[in-house]
Amino acid sequence: MRKSRFLAGVGIVAAGLLGLTACNSGTPGAAPGASEGSSDQLWEVASDVSLDGSPTYDRMVAADKVVVGVKEDQPGLGFKDPLTDERGGFDVEISQWIAASLGFDADQIEYKTIPSANREQELVNGNIDYYVGTYSITDKRKESIDFAGPYLITGQGLLVAADDDSINGPDDLAGKIVCSVTGSTPLQRIRDEYSPGDTVEYDTYTQCLEQLRAGSVDAVTTDQAILAGYVAQEPETFKIAGETFSEERYGVGLPKGDTVLKDHINTLFNDGGDVWTALFDKNLAPAGIQGEQPTADE
Ligand code: GLU
Repeated sequence: MRKSRFLAGVGIVAAGLLGLTACNSGTPGAAPGASEGSSDQLWEVASDVSLDGSPTYDRMVAADKVVVGVKEDQPGLGFKDPLTDERGGFDVEISQWIAASLGFDADQIEYKTIPSANREQELVNGNIDYYVGTYSITDKRKESIDFAGPYLITGQGLLVAADDDSINGPDDLAGKIVCSVTGSTPLQRIRDEYSPGDTVEYDTYTQCLEQLRAGSVDAVTTDQAILAGYVAQEPETFKIAGETFSEERYGVGLPKGDTVLKDHINTLFNDGGDVWTALFDKNLAPAGIQGEQPTADE
């Protein structure tokens, strides 16, 4: 009872804040047919896959597994349960959907948790086959890797202590200390386009959350979809301050030049029927996030 009131509350706040276009009914809860755990009943593992000209696919076939880069501390997106080690979230399930479309079962996926700053290098070095983890498509990143997608659009926001009414947007940061993650687009933007008192950076957003909890920073900045997941977990402690102030288009990071794999994933997204909505409703809607599936044309 208490839980559902809280979820509805977040939904109302988030609807005004996330800067996303609504198309789902927004009813929190599992999508029909989606269980608490894996959603692999939403798709079948493909047989007769042929991806002629994809060196990444050839590597997966030779290894008999898929190596996927993900996040593990972003509830609703990329999360690893510290007690069970089970992975879940929208990004993790998108990675499973892609693997299935390539003929690989969920238990043939090896996950590697890779922080924001190391993503391009891990792809360039061939240590992962693809990366799904709140990875914004940017021209700078496209110099060394390729993206499929976008598969989700969100925007940069601010997280503050629940009792802090002094920050309502990025123009209120004079004299404030703002935390973000090394190598992320939000850190770069808050430095380049706004004037916070100071910025500090860590490898992960949960490290920033601890600094905010301890009162050693005044705000955490990253994508609203990530921040909403933290607020949903601790609504008494944290809140989102103001509206989004950028557009972050999430893509699947791929080794540069593998156009065959990129086209395959874009076709999967664009022809995927109800899968995207089922994954969204299951993983993101409960935190009050609203959105619609973008066309994958990268
Ligand atoms: N989407 C932003 C980025 O790719 C922030 C989230 C993240 O660090 O993964 O930099």
